[in-house]
Amino acid sequence: MLSCKHTIAQGTDYLDKELGFWRKVEMKMHLMICVNCRRYVKQLKQTVIMLSKGQFKQPSKEQIDQLKREYKETNSKQ
Ligand SMILES: [Zn+2]
Repeated sequence: MLSCKHTIAQGTDYLDKELGFWRKVEMKMHLMICVNCRRYVKQLKQTVIMLSKGQFKQPSKEQIDQLKREYKETNSKQ
C-alpha cells in the first residue's frame, strides 16, 4: 500500500496523468481509504485548474510547498 508521503509526492504526476497504470491504481486505492490525501489531491487539482486559467500552466514549487504545509497542519490537528 502506498504511504501518504508517496501519495503526496506523486500528487502532481497523478493529476498530470504521468503515472504508469499500476501507480495510478495504487494512488486511487490510497485515495479511497485516506480522506487526508483525498483532500490534498482535491486542493492540488483546484490549484492546477485555477492556474491553468491564468498565466501559469503549472503551479509553482512555492504553491505546491504551501499546499504541503497546509496539508501537514491539517494532519497534525487531528
Ligand atoms: Zn494518505
